[in-house]
Amino acid sequence: MDVYSTLTRSKEDFVTINKNRVNLFVCGPTVYDDAHIGHGRTYISFDTIKRYLEFKGYAVFYIQNITDIDDKIINRSKESGIPAQELARKFEKRYIEDMNKLNVNGVNLFARATDHVDEILDQIQRLIDKGFAYETEDGVYFEIDKFPEFGKLSNRNVEELESHRDIAETTKKNPQDFALWKKRVGVDEPTWPSPWGDGRPGWHIEDTAITEYYFGPQYDAHGGGLDLIFPHHEAEITQMEAVSGKAPMVKFWLHTGFLNVNGEKMSKSLNNFITIRDLLKDYAAETFRFFVLSTHYRSPIDFSKDSLHQSEKSLDRIRKYYELLDVSVGEDSFECEALAPHKKEFFDSMDDDFNTPKAIAAIFGLINDTKNDLDSFSDEDKIAIKAFLDDVAHILGVSFETEEVSAGSDDLLDLISEVRSELRANKQYDLSDKIRSDLQSLGYEIND
Ligand code: AMP
Repeated sequence: MDVYSTLTRSKEDFVTINKNRVNLFVCGPTVYDDAHIGHGRTYISFDTIKRYLEFKGYAVFYIQNITDIDDKIINRSKESGIPAQELARKFEKRYIEDMNKLNVNGVNLFARATDHVDEILDQIQRLIDKGFAYETEDGVYFEIDKFPEFGKLSNRNVEELESHRDIAETTKKNPQDFALWKKRVGVDEPTWPSPWGDGRPGWHIEDTAITEYYFGPQYDAHGGGLDLIFPHHEAEITQMEAVSGKAPMVKFWLHTGFLNVNGEKMSKSLNNFITIRDLLKDYAAETFRFFVLSTHYRSPIDFSKDSLHQSEKSLDRIRKYYELLDVSVGEDSFECEALAPHKKEFFDSMDDDFNTPKAIAAIFGLINDTKNDLDSFSDEDKIAIKAFLDDVAHILGVSFETEEVSAGSDDLLDLISEVRSELRANKQYDLSDKIRSDLQSLGYEIND
C-alpha cells in the first residue's frame, strides 16, 4: 500500500514501526464552538482511513487531542460569561455527539490538553535542560536557532514563522521563537502552577506531550488539515525531535484539503458558515459522508447543495442495485468473474493513498457492467457481489440497505412527494428540503 507523506512530498510504501500496528494521531478541535462541515470533512477522511487500515488487518490505535485551553476559548468565555473549562466541556460533548452522528467513531482515545499538564511541564523542562528553550518574563520559548532543521515539513524558513496564537511576546530572543508556556496575563483566565509561575501551555506542546506519553518519541502517522502544516506541525517536529534526539518523529504526515462553500472560504462574516448540526437538519449524515469521500482526502472540496444532491442520487443508485441482490450473505464466500476486475480496481485505488473517488468509481463500473444481467447470475455470484458491497459500505462508513419508508396511508403523501420531485427537478432544493425536514419532524421519513 502506498501513502503520500507531506514530509517527503511523495508516496511511500506504508511500512510501520511495528508490523501490523499503526499508531495514528490526528489534531482534534479547539472546543469553543460547534463543529462545522470543514471539521466533518477532515474527520470523516481520517475515520475512513482508519477503517481501511483495520480492514487490511492493522491494529490501529487512533488518538485525537482536544484543545480545551486556548486564546479562543478564553475569549469566548469572556464574551459569554461561561467559565472557560465549562465552555470547553460543553463543546467537547457536542463535538463527540456530532461525530457519532456522522458515523465517525474510530477514535480510541480523546486526550484533553488540560489532562496532560504534567506531561507538558515535563517536556518543557527537558527542552530547557537540553538548551533548546529559555524562560522570559512572560513565558517559556523554544529557541528556533537551536534547531536548524526547522522547516523540513513545510519547506518554509524560520522568517515565515508568524507568532501564531501567541500573546504578549515582548521578551523573546528571536521574534520567531514560539511559546511552550505562557505566564498568566489576566486575572480571570485558567492557569496551572509550574516551575516558571502560574500559566498555561502553548498550543504546539500539548500534542507532542500527549503523543510522547502514549506512543513514545516516534510513531507512524500524524494527520490534520493542511492549514496546520505550518507552523503547528513544524513546531511539533521541532519540539519532539529536539527533546528526543530521534528522527523522524513521524514518517507519514497526512493532510486533508480544505472544504469551501460554493467556491468561497467558509467564514462567519461571509454568512456561509455551516455547522454539522445545521447540515443534519436537512441532509442524511450518510449523504454528507458519501459527498466527502467522493473527493480525494488531500484535494480541496467544494460544498454546495447541488453536489450534495448529486451524492444523494449516487448513493441511491448503489442502494437500488444492492436491493436487486436478493440473496443473504452467510459464512461461505464465493468468487464472481464479473465482479473481479471492479473489486480489484476498488482495492487498488484504496491502496493508492486511499483514493476513495476512484474506489467509488469502481462501484459504478460494477453496477453499469452487471445491472442488466443480474437475473442471469447464480446465487453464488450475487452473494459474492453483496459481500463485497458490505465490505465497501463498512469501509466508507455508510449503509447500502434501503431504509424503511414509513409511508402514511395516503394520497396526500403521494401528492407531497410529487411536488417535491418537481421542486428538485427545478433545483429548488431549499423548499424541497424544508418539506422533507418538516415531514421528518411529523414522523415521516422520506428517502430520495
Ligand atoms: P480547529 O478546531 O480549527 O483547530 O480545527 C480542527 C481540525 O479541523 C484541523 O485539523 C483543521 O485543519 C480542520 N479544519 C478546520 N477547518 C477546516 C475546513 N474548512 N476544511 C477542512 N478541514 C478543516
